[in-house]
Amino acid sequence: MISDKPALLWDIDGTLLETKPVGRTALNIAFEELYHVPGAFDQLDFSGATDHALWIQVSQKYPHLHLSIAHADGFFAHYIGILGKVLAHEPLHPLPSVSTLIPHLSARGWPMALATGNVRAGAFVKLGAAGLAPYFPYGGYSRPHIDRLGLIRQAQQFFPNRILVVIGDTPRDIEAARRSGAVAIGTATGRHPAPVLESHGADVVFERLPDVSGFLNAITDHIRRRAQETIS
Ligand SMILES: [Mg+2]
Repeated sequence: MISDKPALLWDIDGTLLETKPVGRTALNIAFEELYHVPGAFDQLDFSGATDHALWIQVSQKYPHLHLSIAHADGFFAHYIGILGKVLAHEPLHPLPSVSTLIPHLSARGWPMALATGNVRAGAFVKLGAAGLAPYFPYGGYSRPHIDRLGLIRQAQQFFPNRILVVIGDTPRDIEAARRSGAVAIGTATGRHPAPVLESHGADVVFERLPDVSGFLNAITDHIRRRAQETIS
């Protein structure tokens, strides 16, 4: 057995919740309402991106608006209100197994946190609508972080001296997990198939999240193998 349970750091979109463009829709509406530019976020690559990084890209795309980071707080506050309305019409459902896996892990005392590219309030609007918010008292979020490594390190601070396991659906999740020293678990439940996640260095890839014993066996087997390789 592993003496201390590793901390599980979860991505949201495409990992816990289904992938639908509700975030893009809400960002576009918020931007158009504030700055009168439609479709500002349409051409951006959202896969594993942080909200903060998307904001920077959009602010650079429209230099005539003279947007700076000082405008971001107001923008995201407006976005959160719109996101709630968009989700009321088009809810994001938990992916298969999530609604049983997460409560089981929590009941068994596995420490958990978010490692998400959402701004914090956006993360909890999405999770709250899906009934998952109470399971994630800790987290690393977009803002102030721009890249995923920063937000993983923010989440990491809550679990000193524990092995970290990052679970995500994009190459950016996997690469940031590896750079942080965490075990990188890929889930092919977003837009990236398993071979892509493996090619970016995922330690374990699930086609879909398994039940609690399948999930824990895969993780503990990997950590035990890694420890044996380190010793030998
Ligand atoms: Mg994701």
